[in-house]
Amino acid sequence: MRNKSTFDFLKEIRAKAIAPYSKFRVGAVLVTKTGKQFTGQNIESSSYGLTICAERVALFKALSEGEDEFQQISILSDARDFCSPCGACRQVLMDFAPDIEVVLYNQRGERVVYPLKDLLPDAFTPERLNSVPQVK
Ligand SMILES: [Zn+2]
Repeated sequence: MRNKSTFDFLKEIRAKAIAPYSKFRVGAVLVTKTGKQFTGQNIESSSYGLTICAERVALFKALSEGEDEFQQISILSDARDFCSPCGACRQVLMDFAPDIEVVLYNQRGERVVYPLKDLLPDAFTPERLNSVPQVK
């Protein structure tokens, strides 16, 4: 990842978070299967429910640029320990990147890696929508 470590890059991305209410910043770097990188930071709204997480910002940027095959998403927050994606982000990642690897960093630059499927077992998937019997 460029000439700096993923951890250093994540710190730069996290610093761009727009989190005036929670002060809880999160940065994410999404890597496609072809090696392209898309970054995301959490962006808060004064109407809190409209806030969007760093993970979904990165994913939506990539999707809007036509990317559809993803390898890895790395995440660093202001939390002392590893910060796993929220339920909404897990679901959206499952919709578009079910085989992605989720890499969580803590403040010391240590990392843990999870397959998304381990973070969202028995997930609701697009295939389940298609499994509904046809109603006449
Ligand atoms: Zn989230």
